[in-house]
Order: sequence, then structure tokens, then C-alpha cells
Amino acid sequence: MEDISSLIKKAMFNLKPEAKFRPDYQTALENEEVKKFLATHQAEITPEIIDNSLDNLYLFTQQLKSNRIQKILQGYEPHLVLNDNLIEITYAPGKVMQTELALNKAQKRIQLIDLPEKLKNVTLSELDKAPGREEALVKIATFLKQYQTNSHARGLYLEGSFGVGKTYLLAGLANVLAQNGTQVIFLHTPSFIASLPTFVKKNTLAAEVDKITQAPVVIFDDIGAESLSEWSRDDILGVIFQKRMDNELPTFFTSNLDLAGLEKHFSETKNSVDELKAKRIMQRIRFLSEEVLVKGENRRV
Ligand code: ADP
Ligand code: MG
Repeated sequence: MEDISSLIKKAMFNLKPEAKFRPDYQTALENEEVKKFLATHQAEITPEIIDNSLDNLYLFTQQLKSNRIQKILQGYEPHLVLNDNLIEITYAPGKVMQTELALNKAQKRIQLIDLPEKLKNVTLSELDKAPGREEALVKIATFLKQYQTNSHARGLYLEGSFGVGKTYLLAGLANVLAQNGTQVIFLHTPSFIASLPTFVKKNTLAAEVDKITQAPVVIFDDIGAESLSEWSRDDILGVIFQKRMDNELPTFFTSNLDLAGLEKHFSETKNSVDELKAKRIMQRIRFLSEEVLVKGENRRV
């Protein structure tokens, strides 16, 4: 095997007369990326191949350094490839673009139902650790660790007053899960319950309920703020919780109510008071999640 510098020298020596003295070709062959490519492929590359590829090598080095071309490439980066007897340029997403593509892919794994798109940009590491949320952050981290090896890890019930950051904390959790390949449904419970008549009209209720029942991770945001009928409590929420419980699928909640307050809320539907039914649904929520208090100031401006 010839070493690469003698290969280059030989190639230069063999150059067609009109190319021999072109300084741009010389510079191209001295480019670090080009040298690296030639070194990795030295077993296959002959002086003739280099000779035939000089234009491409030159173009390649130009593309590496030209801002104008970088702009045209829009995140793609030029790479050299050996195709038969010619070194050619191909383009692949660069680092920045790769990160962006991975992020887009992750964001597609989160389905927001009646919640703002901006929640997909909340990152746990950027969430400030204001006092009052340490316990929630620790429990979220513990869940994420457990979930790596146990897809039946227990969810959390984040309870606290309006604006302390409960939804944001779970958005941070959802984004980590999505980046690790998990599908997450993040739904605003009051709007979901209010949409039920529309689902019935459009004949999509069963599909919606199945989707929420089966998703690997579901977050019920703002539970306790919805207005329930016996039907939406027992046949919709109750059934979803029961099935998620049977299958031990991680389920999270945020609420302004503590568990006792939620029980009271569930006991009072539009037309009746039913403490037994409320207790039954609470059992499921208790099974699915661990209660964590989030304290702090109202951060909404
Ligand atoms: P909650 O769900 O408890 O009512 P949110 O999660 O919606 O509260 O948070 C309220 C607002 O506070 C958010 O819209 C966001 O602007 C801000 N916020 C929440 N948590 C954080 C945080 N950790 N760091 C910075 N801003 C935050
Ligand atoms: Mg909220």
C-alpha cells in the first residue's frame, strides 16, 4: 500500500500539462479534509483517480469555505465519496441540521390535544429550579430513570395552585420521553371533555378514547377543572383510567385540586351527587399516580 503523500505527489506529477501548474488544484490536495479522505481510501485510490477527480476536489474545498455556498446548502454539508473511478461530492445533513431533524422527529411523538404548541419547546434542563418544585423535579427524574427499564413505572399527580408551573414541568417530562422514542399524549382535560359531543357527532369517539387508552404515556392536564356528566365521568374518564390501570400504563395528572378536592369534584356531576362513583374513580387515579405538591408563586404574567 502506498502512503498517501507519495500518492498525491505521483498524482501531481502525472497531471495533465494544463492542470499541473494550477495552484487551486495544489491547494485542494493540501486541504485537511481532502487529505483525510485520501488517507482513509488509500487502498482503493490510484493517482489516475485523483487526477480525474481534481475538479471535484477543488469544488469540494471551495464549498467548504464559501459562505455563499453554505447558505445555498441550507444545513447540508459536502462530503467526498469514491464512486468507481471518480471521487465525487455528496451532501448530507450537518450537525446543526441533524440536531434539528432529531428534534422535529421527537416533537412528532408528542400529541398535544387542546394545548399550546410552545409546550414542545420546554426543556427540563432550562426550567429554573425555583423553590417549591424540587420534589416534583426529583420525582420526574426518578420516573424518567425507571422508565428506561420499566415501561410500567408509576406516574405523578402534580397538585398546586394556578401558575406555579405544573404544566411546564410535565411538558419538560414529555419532551425527554419523546426524545427517547416514546409516544406521549398531552391533553387538556376540560377541553377534551367539552369536545366529547363533537366526537360523537363525527363518529370518532371510540377512536379518540382508544388512542388515549393505549398511548404509552398520557398526561391529563388540569384535571378537576372539567365539567362532568355521569357519562363523561364513568364511561369516558373512568373507562380510560381503568384500562390504563389494567395495563399499568404510565399516566400523569396536573390539577389545582388535591386528591380530596378532586374526589369531591368527581362526586358532583351535572345532575347528581354520587360519592361511591367518585371513590371508584379516585382509586384508579391513586393507583396510576403518586401525589406531589408543587408550590411557588404564580408565574403567569
Ligand atoms: P400551571 O400549570 O401550574 O398553572 P404553567 O406550567 O402553565 O402553570 O406555568 C405558568 C407560566 O409560568 C408558564 O406559561 C410559563 O411562562 C411560566 N413558567 C412555568 N414554569 C417555569 C419555569 N420553570 N421556568 C420559567 N418559566 C416558567
Ligand atoms: Mg396548567
